[in-house]
Amino acid sequence: MTIAEIKQNIRDIKDFPIEGIIFKDLTTAFKNPDCMKFFEDNMYDLYKNKGITKIIGIESRGFIMAPILGNRLGVGFVPIRKKGKLPANVMEVSYEKEYGIDTIQIHKDALNENDIVLIHDDLLATGGTMKAACELVKKFNVKKIYLNFIVELDFLEGTKNFDKDINVSSLIHY
Ligand code: AMP
Repeated sequence: MTIAEIKQNIRDIKDFPIEGIIFKDLTTAFKNPDCMKFFEDNMYDLYKNKGITKIIGIESRGFIMAPILGNRLGVGFVPIRKKGKLPANVMEVSYEKEYGIDTIQIHKDALNENDIVLIHDDLLATGGTMKAACELVKKFNVKKIYLNFIVELDFLEGTKNFDKDINVSSLIHY
């Protein structure tokens, strides 16, 4: 598989979920086992020697690759979810999205200060979601944070939202 072939497996949906957004639909890539293998191997190679202790996935499309990589690395998975979904005590951050305002939460006992954390989401657009996720994770005083995306929309310059010392990696750029 090449990046060009992966791109052929990502479908553009015009005006979803609102007018003016071109939605990068990764379900067409996720249903192709060659794409899934490529995503998994790429992520594993990037993070196998980084001492990662927890993989965080952001609801809901971040929940697809994050646990797969967690299993491969032999580390646990932690969900960041939309408000009202997590059952125990939570911390939360609100933020503005490309289309609307949202609040995300994490369990208060999900991480500790010895953790080296990889936060994964399927796609980086404006970066609001991942910035909020970083704010949540920083509350735990973890040792280090890595950020990973399958797709990055370069023209939205989402990486500007992240601290300079945070390592960011995206497989596919538009
Ligand atoms: P943002 O906070 O703007 O970086 O938005 C990132 C989140 O919204 C990710 O969880 C994506 O799944 C979703 N998202 C935003 N824009 C798009 C888009 N154009 N295509 C697909 N997903 C998107």
